[in-house]
Amino acid sequence: MQKFNPSFLATSIEYLKGVGPERAAILKNEASIYTFGDLLKLYPYRYIDRTQFYSTQHIDNTQTYIQLKGKIKNIQEIGQGRGRRLTAIFYDDAGQIELVWFQGIKWLQKSLSTQETYILYGKPNWFNGKFNITHPELEKFTDFNAENVGTFRSMYNTSEKMKKKGLDSKAIFKLIQNLLAQLKPEHILEMLPSTLLAKYKLMPRYDAIKNIHIPQTLALQTQAIQRLKFEELFLIQLNLLRLKIIRQRADGIYFEKVDNYFKKFYDDALPFDLTNAQKRVLKEIRKDTLSGKQMNRLLQGDVGSGKTIVAMLSMLMAIDNNYQAAFMAPTEILAQQHFAGLKPLCDIINIRIALLSGSTKNKDRKQILASILQGEIHILIGTHALLEDDVQFKNLGIAIIDEQHRFGVEQRAKLWKKNSIAPHVLVMTATPIPRTLAMTLYGDLDVSVLDELPPGRKPIMTVHRYESKRIAVFSFLKEEIAKGRQVYIVYPLIEESEKLDLIDLQNGYESISRSFPLPDYALSIVHGKMKPEDKDFEMQRFIKGETQIMVATTVIEVGVNVPNASVMVIENAERFGLSQLHQLRGRVGRGAEQSYCILMSSNKLTTDGKKRINTMVETNDGFKISEVDLELRGPGNIEGKQQSGNIDLKLANIATDGAIIEEARKAAINLLEEDTLLEKQENADLKFYLQQIKSENNYWRNIS
Ligand code: ADP
Ligand code: MG
Repeated sequence: MQKFNPSFLATSIEYLKGVGPERAAILKNEASIYTFGDLLKLYPYRYIDRTQFYSTQHIDNTQTYIQLKGKIKNIQEIGQGRGRRLTAIFYDDAGQIELVWFQGIKWLQKSLSTQETYILYGKPNWFNGKFNITHPELEKFTDFNAENVGTFRSMYNTSEKMKKKGLDSKAIFKLIQNLLAQLKPEHILEMLPSTLLAKYKLMPRYDAIKNIHIPQTLALQTQAIQRLKFEELFLIQLNLLRLKIIRQRADGIYFEKVDNYFKKFYDDALPFDLTNAQKRVLKEIRKDTLSGKQMNRLLQGDVGSGKTIVAMLSMLMAIDNNYQAAFMAPTEILAQQHFAGLKPLCDIINIRIALLSGSTKNKDRKQILASILQGEIHILIGTHALLEDDVQFKNLGIAIIDEQHRFGVEQRAKLWKKNSIAPHVLVMTATPIPRTLAMTLYGDLDVSVLDELPPGRKPIMTVHRYESKRIAVFSFLKEEIAKGRQVYIVYPLIEESEKLDLIDLQNGYESISRSFPLPDYALSIVHGKMKPEDKDFEMQRFIKGETQIMVATTVIEVGVNVPNASVMVIENAERFGLSQLHQLRGRVGRGAEQSYCILMSSNKLTTDGKKRINTMVETNDGFKISEVDLELRGPGNIEGKQQSGNIDLKLANIATDGAIIEEARKAAINLLEEDTLLEKQENADLKFYLQQIKSENNYWRNIS
């Protein structure tokens, strides 16, 4: 074995043949490619099988992507403003198909030629009664033929700006070819120990890097991807597990006794019997807080499973030992609701509880901050406001984060630092997370599950109704309201088109007020653009039963609890993601009455939209729903990055690579069992590599 030589991959990208200073600047700004090594980490997103050609005659609905050979005619610009586009006809011996571009029109007009023969690659869409292809990849046949690089052409994602400067997929491929021509085995560090390679039959890293970019055969391509996915997932697991080990070595806060407040609360304040699941989880938390180590636990429980009371009792464990507790919620409304719900219970046993949020008045805020520092306040409830530096506790013993999917790992870490010895941390999430995702996101946490709903709940009945049935839906709502029930009507809110959504909401509100006129009906309206006071005022009217209908955007999605509300109507249900639908539905079915969820949609539904709605109609099981969600959303899209913490996988797909995730985790556990500190010679390269990525990779910078 030659000695590893890191200098080649560390070379500035500027010095690669075909790059130079101008392109280097674009590569840096647009793709964070600074070095040779960075370029190698830009993996292809797809491969074209260069041996397979279709003819325009054979285009049908079954193909995803096809490769055609032919010429272009009738290039023309049509439409204006947002409708502006370039169209052309692509034809071969057998027939033709329309091409459409919405971007890069100028450049295309200049570069497309009606004389050339092109190789086209793209995805046919069925539109207005015929097939077309939008934004196809085009390549001159002469260029295509000139290359002789195996069976596959690798495709790379590049930004619009890069394309404008000629750095399209093809250009990147060229650069990669140039780079691979110089790449030698000693430039690549094989960080995985050889025993692991053998055990999991993994391709050596050098070969994998070559074959992921320029595979010679399908088998080699598959092996290369497999190896690099394993590596990616294995390193994540290893880091998470090491983080856990490090934390377990440090001292944690010891909750010696649980007698006074906890018992009093249990006897005098607890409004119901705990479910067995709640009891079990509390025992797990008790055990953690007695271990002398820091608790880092994830509590997963479907909507309505009763997580709040578990949080409350856990906080009492801290208070019984003269520690304070923090309870953090993702939205103002939710924080307020937790406060409103827990305050009367705390009053019964003389626990001091306070609310701190973005809208807390300055004067009150100052006072609250002083009391927290003095230790006069036992429980502090709040939003992100709790994370700010001036929020200092006398002795924080436990921090609870509700609905974790709204918080990043970074924020979790901020809470750890609020006490000299890291407080116990309980993360609660109502969005059920598929096992593989949980392992990847929360692999450093212990997991508890509330798998039982409080008794007496009737399963929510869910139906799908098209717009044409609106009158019937409204008369059903009237019947329910006549029985004394309350109703939610929710409109989508999608950030990019907030304005349009608000118009939807307002139009909806007006038509609802016409159908449900005063004085027989009173309506509340809540949306994100309202002042917190107004929002609160409207919420309170609904909670108190002064209004029967709550018209809202998804601001009410998380956690809101009005047991008398029995119907959830979701407008444009096809525009919501599955977990959002599930969250929304969870707002009803909290009382003893039969509850309903009505998913309204237009007649035009995409396949995915239909599948989402059908899934909701078929099941109430949050875990099943999360699996379908993951399957539909695919990689990189799981609940948007904001919701899943800072996960950034380059290759692996949480939805489809479950088996590799499990394997990688097992491998990491085994390795650390044998060599916890990575001191063995065979793991030296691995240790070295981990230190390297720790200093350069964002994900890990955020965690530790
Ligand atoms: P989530 O897990 O969604 O946060 P909550 O904590 O808001 O659920 O609880 C939902 C509702 O169930 C609340 O009204 C709560 O008071 C009630 N609840 C919780 N636990 C029980 C129980 N063991 N028995 C009866 N009702 C309960
Ligand atoms: Mg909750």
